[in-house]
Amino acid sequence: MASMYCVKCRAKREDPNAQKVTMKNGKPALKGKCSVCGTSMFKIGAS
Ligand SMILES: [Zn+2]
Repeated sequence: MASMYCVKCRAKREDPNAQKVTMKNGKPALKGKCSVCGTSMFKIGAS
């Protein structure tokens, strides 16, 4: 499970459905969704 930070809730959230994505600069990241407010969350630097 990925632990990410929701900037809207200003709290840590975990998203079991987080997906690995590749950013435009080619770096890996995790993309998830806050289960509370629905805001997209990103975690940069995921391997
Ligand atoms: Zn949130």
